[in-house]
Amino acid sequence: MAPIPSAHGAPFEVNEPKSGGEKSKKMHSQVVIIGSGPAGHTAAIYLARAELKPVLFEGLMANGFAPGGQLTTTTDVDNFPGFPDGVNGGEMMDKFRAQSERFGTTIITETIAKVDLSQRPFKYWREGEEEDTDFETADTIIIATGASAKRLNLPGEETYWQSGISACAVCDGAVPIFRNKPLAVIGGGDSAAEEATYLTKYGSHVYVLVRKGELRASKIMAKRLTSHPKVTVLWNTVATECQGDGDLLQSLAIKNVKTGETSTLDVNGLFYAIGHEPATALVREQVHTDADGYIVTVPGTAQTSIKGVFAAGDVQDKKYRQAITSAGSGCMAALEAERLISEEEAEDSEIPAEEKHVPSEALTGYL
Ligand SMILES: Cc1cc2nc3c(=O)[nH]c(=O)nc-3n(C[C@H](O)[C@H](O)[C@H](O)COP(=O)(O)OP(=O)(O)OC[C@H]3O[C@@H](n4cnc5c(N)ncnc54)[C@H](O)[C@@H]3O)c2cc1C
Repeated sequence: MAPIPSAHGAPFEVNEPKSGGEKSKKMHSQVVIIGSGPAGHTAAIYLARAELKPVLFEGLMANGFAPGGQLTTTTDVDNFPGFPDGVNGGEMMDKFRAQSERFGTTIITETIAKVDLSQRPFKYWREGEEEDTDFETADTIIIATGASAKRLNLPGEETYWQSGISACAVCDGAVPIFRNKPLAVIGGGDSAAEEATYLTKYGSHVYVLVRKGELRASKIMAKRLTSHPKVTVLWNTVATECQGDGDLLQSLAIKNVKTGETSTLDVNGLFYAIGHEPATALVREQVHTDADGYIVTVPGTAQTSIKGVFAAGDVQDKKYRQAITSAGSGCMAALEAERLISEEEAEDSEIPAEEKHVPSEALTGYL
């Protein structure tokens, strides 16, 4: 095995070529990006243009999404700047991918199954190659694995998903099928209150289905919601089925969980506001995450609690969750990784162990 220096001087041994002259694909990279949504590809574009030869693992239906991420599951994206006539979500992500490749990003259609962030260079394992010795290494890692909206998996939900059912009022509220139509929101927290209030701009009326007899939303949000003339809160109520004409949602079967009474609610839109699940299983035990599992970054940066590990996109953002904000944080992660790599190259010395972890004071106020 031939020792080679990593970016910060620690020796690293390249894996031997496989027997029979076949070259091992085991790699050492200056920067590896895990995830292929707007955050991952934006990071890749910046890093490739900086000639850092980024390697991007785009996943193989990782977290339930095709390469390209959440936008591959939608049709029209109307709020991403630069597309005055809107753009199909899948087509937009094809363009992101092509731009990453144009500048030399190595894109690998595999899922990362495991990482070891305990020391640098960091180790990672591809899915299906998880033996201890199968690892590859990177000086810096950008985690851009995204998130997914929680769903109820009601009967009919799959048929009308994106044909009347959505999990993002800001993304989809303005589309014609919801204009001046009765809509429903499921959820009782701040997001539900915010989404329902937002939807009053477009819908003729908004019904909020709350399983309990009270809202979890803050008092001010709850008051704004319940006092809105276009909102009706249906307390102790759950949806049991999504119904329609085969093309578009037309109604919900609902049930009062206190009385057992069932009825039909005529609505042309259903918006889930029951939370999101950040794709952090890979790193949850290793970097600081908050109570909901989102990666915590130093405010105003993409830096996680481990030096050299950056997070971008929905995986660290429970507030905005938009393509443009994801792309913006991908850019930040890339610029920070690039700066760290060049500083370490300039220093050309070993990093003291105590500098490996970002001081927890830096994260204070954000946890
Ligand atoms: C139906 C729908 C419609 C939307 N519409 C809009 C809209 O109109 N406008 C807007 O701004 N936003 C919209 N959004 C939100 C937007 O899609 C997200 O904010 C954005 O995609 C988040 O980008 P991301 O880069 O963080 O990750 P994601 O888009 O979540 O992508 C992450 C990718 O990483 C991959 N991955 C995960 N784990 C691994 C792993 N271990 N190894 C390798 N790969 C992995 C996943 O497979 C996925 O492809 C919509 C979302 C949905 C679901």
